[in-house]
Amino acid sequence: MRDQWGRAITYVRVSVTDRCNLRCQYCMPQEGVPFLPHEAILRFEEIVQAVQALAVCGVSRVKLTGGEPLCRKNLPQLVRMLYDVPGIEEVTLTTNGILLPQQAKALFDAGILRVNVSLDTLKPERYAKMTRCGKLDDALAGLRAAQQVGMHVKLNVVPVRGWNDDEVVDLVRFGKQNGVPVRFIELMPVGLGAEQRGLSNAEVRDMVQQAMPGFTPFRGQTLGNGPAVCYGWSDGGVFGLIGAVHDRFCTSCNRVRLTADGILRLCLAHPDGLDLKPYLRAGKPGLVEALQQAILNKPLGHNFSGQQTDDRTMNGIGG
Ligand code: SAM
Ligand code: SF4
Repeated sequence: MRDQWGRAITYVRVSVTDRCNLRCQYCMPQEGVPFLPHEAILRFEEIVQAVQALAVCGVSRVKLTGGEPLCRKNLPQLVRMLYDVPGIEEVTLTTNGILLPQQAKALFDAGILRVNVSLDTLKPERYAKMTRCGKLDDALAGLRAAQQVGMHVKLNVVPVRGWNDDEVVDLVRFGKQNGVPVRFIELMPVGLGAEQRGLSNAEVRDMVQQAMPGFTPFRGQTLGNGPAVCYGWSDGGVFGLIGAVHDRFCTSCNRVRLTADGILRLCLAHPDGLDLKPYLRAGKPGLVEALQQAILNKPLGHNFSGQQTDDRTMNGIGG
C-alpha cells in the first residue's frame, strides 16, 4: 500500500534481537545496554504473524537485522517460516559476519541468497578497537563463507571521522578485488552515532574520485532494497553511497521496521511506533487495519540535524 505521501511500502526490516556479539563504537556502549527481557522479545510465531499482516498491506521483502541477527538461535527456521508467508518474495540478512562460518550454509539452504556484511576497516587492530571486542579475521571468514555457499555479498561501511576515514579507498579496492559491492552509509545521529562525526557521501565520492577515477553511474542491478546511489568501473567494481543524513532520500523511502520487542517503527528517526504486542499476544483484533493506519501516517522524513533523536541505540532499532 501507499502512505499518504504516495510512497509504496514494500519492505520491512525485522530486528530479531537487540543483543550483539560486538560493541561497535557508534552503535553500542562498551558495557552494553539494558537488554530487553527474554519474554519481551517476539517469538518466531509472533514475528511471522506480524509479517503476514504486513504482507497483506503490500510488504514483499524482509531483511533480518538486530542487534546481531545470527545471535538468535535457529534463525534458518525463521527464514523458512517467513518464506511460507503468502506475498513474501525475499528474505535477506544484515550481519557483522562473525558467526557466518558456522551458519552460512544453513541460512543459504533456508533461502538467504543475499547478505550484507558490515565491515568498517581492514586493519585488525582498528577492527578490535572499533568493535571493542571483534576479530577482523572472523568477519573476513564470515564474508568468505557466505561467498562460498553462493550468497551474493555486499559490504556495508560507516565512515567515521578519526576512525576509518583514511580507509575509504582501501575498502573500495578490497571490494573490487573480491567481487563485492561496497556501500558507504552516512553515520546517523541515532544513539551513540550522535557522539561521533561521519563522512558525507560527497566526501567519500571525492576520495574515490581522487584515487580511482573513471567510475560512472552504475545502472545495472540495484544494490539492494536501499536508496544507494551506485557507481562502477568498466573493468568491474561497484560502490554505493547511502546518504542517510545529507541526501534526504525520504521521498523514496519504502520501508518500515519491526523492533525485537514488537514495535512497528515507521521511520528510523521518529521514536513513535505502533506496539503490535496487544495484537500478537492478547488477541486484540484489527492488526491489519492498525498497520494500514500506521503506514498511512508514516512521517514524511527525518530531521537529522546532528542532534540525537532517540533514546534507543541502533542495536535496539535494527539499523
Ligand atoms: N549487527 C548487524 C550489523 O552490524 O550489520 C545488524 C544490525 S546493525 C545496527 C545494521 C547496520 O547499522 C550496520 O551496518 C551498522 O554499521 C549500521 N549502523 C549502526 N549504527 C549506525 C549509525 N548511527 N548510523 C549509521 N549506520 C549505523
Ligand atoms: Fe552489533 Fe551491528 Fe551494532 Fe556493531 S553495528 S554493535 S555489530 S548491532
